[in-house]
Amino acid sequence: MADDFDAIVVGAGFAGSSAAIRLAQGGANVLLLERGAEAGVKNLSGGILWGHDLDRILPGWWHEMPVERHIVRKRFGFLTSDSAVSFDFDDATWRREPYVAHSVLRVRTDAWMAKKAEDAGATVVTSVPVERLNWEGTRVHGIVQGGETMTAPVTILADGANSRLALGTPIRPNPRLRGEATELGIKEVYRLDARRIEERFQLGPGEGHAEEWVAGQFAPGVMGGGFLYTNADTISVGLILNLQSLFGRGVYSQELIEQFRLHPTIAARLRDAELVEYGAKLISSGWASRPSAFHGDGWMVVGDAAGFVFSNGIVIQGMNYAIRTGLEAAEVALASKKVGDHSATRLAEYDRRLESSGVLSDFRDFEKMDRVKWNPRFYTAYPRFATELFHALMTETGARKQPIRRLLRTAQKAAGLGSTTLLKDGVGMFRDL
Ligand SMILES: Cc1cc2nc3c(=O)[nH]c(=O)nc-3n(C[C@H](O)[C@H](O)[C@H](O)COP(=O)(O)OP(=O)(O)OC[C@H]3O[C@@H](n4cnc5c(N)ncnc54)[C@H](O)[C@@H]3O)c2cc1C
Repeated sequence: MADDFDAIVVGAGFAGSSAAIRLAQGGANVLLLERGAEAGVKNLSGGILWGHDLDRILPGWWHEMPVERHIVRKRFGFLTSDSAVSFDFDDATWRREPYVAHSVLRVRTDAWMAKKAEDAGATVVTSVPVERLNWEGTRVHGIVQGGETMTAPVTILADGANSRLALGTPIRPNPRLRGEATELGIKEVYRLDARRIEERFQLGPGEGHAEEWVAGQFAPGVMGGGFLYTNADTISVGLILNLQSLFGRGVYSQELIEQFRLHPTIAARLRDAELVEYGAKLISSGWASRPSAFHGDGWMVVGDAAGFVFSNGIVIQGMNYAIRTGLEAAEVALASKKVGDHSATRLAEYDRRLESSGVLSDFRDFEKMDRVKWNPRFYTAYPRFATELFHALMTETGARKQPIRRLLRTAQKAAGLGSTTLLKDGVGMFRDL
């Protein structure tokens, strides 16, 4: 019997919609299924979109996509309970088209992407929480939903982190998420009018500012970072937390985001802004969160469902990998359609494309970055060291001036950082990042 579709894509995030757009553009009869009432309503990103891969399917997309602001400046820093040390990266090329990155709100962008898939000829159906993949032995032959089976020779899993369709199947034999490869993202959105955002962050019209912080002000042992991104007339703030570091400590994510938001440096940026949205989501990040394979007989797995989130403590990038992997899977599905072969051997081309497009090397080469990212000293001793040092350097007290080497030693002592530890951590950073 003929299949219902040439390809089925589960999940209308950036990965799924990019795949569906490319498949439809290539002439495939593609079904894109989304569990949310609309694409984007279930999704959450910080979110800074590095969207250059979208040029492959939607040239000049940023003119039309409902993006918030193009990013012209990034700030990175350390927070302690009452101080902050940071530096800014401000690049003139970021102010010119084609812009490098945009702040986005997924409710808007994902609905737009799903509409683009529909315009290209895909069948997009929302409010459909796919129950399971239709396994025929070792082959996936479409999906099952509401007791009904819909078939296609290839199914693309783009259902995000914590992919329920994969857990406990040959794709992810372990039925549970691995705590050490999972992070918790929390986000709040605050309304503030565009003019005040531009004045407060020294931005021109349409320009955006992004900042990422190592959060050194939480209870000992709790590890995570914070972000603040300017949107058109809102500001997104949030935390990415090491999930395991929260277990058994009696701390609640709600308290942590409050502590972050009430930090004097962050509170000043949010003055007079009104909370309009709150959300939380799991993130499977890095090489350790990859599935048992990226493809098999009749299936490929893309985006967050495959663990393609690059997060090294300074940046978090997942939407770009979602787009790129969605597009690579779509290319392979189109080529497989031509020859009428969707076997694992044929779909192995997806792995080759993940390799040649640089995705696999980005993750494999940084396999050990968690050793640096989740070094507890980065959330205790180093923020303290940085703020102690800069406090001494920047404050005039009338006392006799000290040479920098002595200030460094004093800050080191205050932070409890021995020279051997500093050397070891420095070598570790050099080796693993
Ligand atoms: C707090 C936070 C901040 C982040 N910040 C950034 C950032 O600044 N920049 C960046 O690039 N990345 C960021 N990320 C990561 C980024 O959000 C993800 O990498 C990206 O969303 C992955 O896209 P995706 O399409 O693979 O998955 P998702 O966006 O999760 O989309 C999956 C889709 O599948 C649907 N779905 C799930 N199960 C089913 C089912 N059974 N049936 C039907 N549909 C289903 C979901 O509703 C959803 O629409 C952040 C993540 C978090 C949590």
